[in-house]
Amino acid sequence: MNTELFLRDLQNLDVKNKDVITLYNEISALAMKYAGDPEPADGGRSACYLSMEFLVGRGFFNNLMELGVLDGVRTVLAQKGIDINVFEEIEDAALGNGGLGRLAACFLDSAAGIGVPLYGYGIRYKYGLFKQAINNGFQVELPDDWQRFGDPWSVRRENESREIVFADLKVKAVPYDMPVFGKRINKLRLYQAEGSAEAEKISEYLYPADDTEEGKLLRLRQEYFFSSATIAELTENYRKLHGSDFSDFHKYYVIQLNDTHPVIGVAEFIRLLTTKYNTDFSTAVSIAKKTFAYTNHTVLPEALECWREELVKKILPEIAGIMVKLSEYAVKELTALGCTKEEISSTAIYKNGIFYMANLAVYIAKAVNGVAKLHTEILKSDLFAVANRIYPEKLQNKTNGITHRRWLELCNSELSSLIDKAIGREWRRDISGLSKLNGCVDAVVKDFIAVKRLKKQQLLKYIAEKEGVEISPEFLVFAQVKRLHEYKRQLMTAFAVLELYDGLKSGAIENFYPSVFIFGAKSAPGYRRAKAIIKFINDIAEKINSDSRTNDRLKVVFVSNYNVSYAEKIVAGTDVSLQVSTAGLEASGTGNMKFMMNGAVTCGTMDGANIEIVEMAGRENNYIFGAEVDEIERAKKAGYEPLKLLENPVAKKAVKTLVDGTFSDGGSGDFRELYESLTVGTDWHKPDNYFVLYDLQSFVDTILKINADYSDKQSFAVKQLKNAANSSYFSSDRTIKEYARDIWEV
Ligand SMILES: *Cc1c(COP(=O)(O)O)cnc(C)c1O
Repeated sequence: MNTELFLRDLQNLDVKNKDVITLYNEISALAMKYAGDPEPADGGRSACYLSMEFLVGRGFFNNLMELGVLDGVRTVLAQKGIDINVFEEIEDAALGNGGLGRLAACFLDSAAGIGVPLYGYGIRYKYGLFKQAINNGFQVELPDDWQRFGDPWSVRRENESREIVFADLKVKAVPYDMPVFGKRINKLRLYQAEGSAEAEKISEYLYPADDTEEGKLLRLRQEYFFSSATIAELTENYRKLHGSDFSDFHKYYVIQLNDTHPVIGVAEFIRLLTTKYNTDFSTAVSIAKKTFAYTNHTVLPEALECWREELVKKILPEIAGIMVKLSEYAVKELTALGCTKEEISSTAIYKNGIFYMANLAVYIAKAVNGVAKLHTEILKSDLFAVANRIYPEKLQNKTNGITHRRWLELCNSELSSLIDKAIGREWRRDISGLSKLNGCVDAVVKDFIAVKRLKKQQLLKYIAEKEGVEISPEFLVFAQVKRLHEYKRQLMTAFAVLELYDGLKSGAIENFYPSVFIFGAKSAPGYRRAKAIIKFINDIAEKINSDSRTNDRLKVVFVSNYNVSYAEKIVAGTDVSLQVSTAGLEASGTGNMKFMMNGAVTCGTMDGANIEIVEMAGRENNYIFGAEVDEIERAKKAGYEPLKLLENPVAKKAVKTLVDGTFSDGGSGDFRELYESLTVGTDWHKPDNYFVLYDLQSFVDTILKINADYSDKQSFAVKQLKNAANSSYFSSDRTIKEYARDIWEV
């Protein structure tokens, strides 16, 4: 970027009487003018990342930082009497749900940052993930009209539009390109659906409700819409440059499928090659096998996508036919390899009128990866055990990461400067250098304590303004922020907090260092138990915060509308990161990495990437508790009976508050439903399916241990610093290098 010309133009920009949104658009447009265009892949080979979600967050500050002009813009605006922080009013582009979508955004950032040609493809939703308000403790969902601020970082490419054909509907797919700045300029291409009211619905909402047939069809349309637009584009480009023999396609493109949503694109690829480009079926399959790679993100059975044939046939009859044919083709191949009937059945792409998209992905993909060591081991030994026997070379691990540019340099410039002073600036370019910080922990610990306090102060001030809850920066800050799900066990934290409250009231807990528990989470709109947990936490917060006997020592706040911008503040201002999922169920987590990098200790279970976090930063510098995977397996086999655990007074008291009138769910019966999910279960879930009661006591003990340790601020800060110093492994720069080396070969 020509920084001088940009800043000169900015200096000349007339800012009088302009509102924040106008200024945001004009400054962004100016940056776009000088930033340069996305670069095509050099050497001809590129990686394409297909994802239903890109949780990019706010572009303004991050883009200016990547372009190297953030400080310049701050200074010029200050001269004009404008505080750059006014642009915090511009809301996030929340085109994603949580970890999976944020990972996609971090990957794009890192690829550009280290010079890997990676292009993102997805959907330009009119409305992103709903905005959450809390009303009387309940979650309220409001539409997220992110485009009302304008979209100055995107360029509409009308002339690259294409038609997507469903049996009953033709849709125009119009690409919008968002540059991704770094060492090179890549791009995120998001397709918007146009042409008719029916067509526009396809890119209207992220994850429209799919509990009806119509909703399911819409979801399938979305998946086909963006994957087929992408496949059409890539095959056309190839055809233009390399002719109609597609046998070299995989030398130019590798297509990474982020979870199963874009897997339908594999069938589209085979359809195009066999119908439009005169390739025979088995050649098309063999090219596909060299082109696609698949990332699995979860082992929860309810999250593994299946499509009824009948449904697919309705709108994509050709695709349904290809998937049936592909399934038969795979069966023949496996039979020839000597697989048993059971093996063939358990890996079936199509069985009894149902398509199994993960099985399709595993069959086709040249590489299948889990997202943390433990997760990959579970894939190998459990979910994809059969596939792993048949194709042992396919399954591999790529532990997730987060971009240290947004999640350290941008969100914590104060800690970043401290690091610069201690070890120089090289770590910003090559994050592995961050480990040098280990050599000067004692020298910088005082400054670190000051930075942590400052970030805490900033966070708590923001929370006071936004949520109306006042918390002293002297408090020890615990945070559990992430999507609300039973397996993430926010309910267990709520129970633990209630136990602390009880202990403080009764005097059973003494010498308690004043602490606050910050929760932030959105629940899927149709997920009743998750919504009940949000209400429960809010009720607990209200009760505890208003109790003058204890509120000088214990507070609880549920922050509303948790999103990327909120996360940037929370990870920097937190002391203790709560990562307490049931062992074996959190594939990786990336929130855990953001906290670590900002110098928080992890209080968590041996799950997902927590295991690697303590491996890197030292178990003694973190707080691990609870049952590990094998213990949970054993307990399940032995017939885990949570009712027996209710003999434990902590568990008993906690569970009782759901039904004894302490809190009210407004007559909905939701709290009783939660109670029953823990104590008696349902036909689709065993009681306490997520082992909340099993781990509760050790969780409470661990919190008390942390609380006691914190009274020695110096040694606690050393633990925190060691986490930051050993976090470079969790930069997505490292993850992208591994993908580029082992899978993409770019
Ligand atoms: C990082 C991030 C997540 C993922 O958090 P986990 O704790 O890994 O589940 C979800 N939402 C937002 C807004 C994030 O920034």
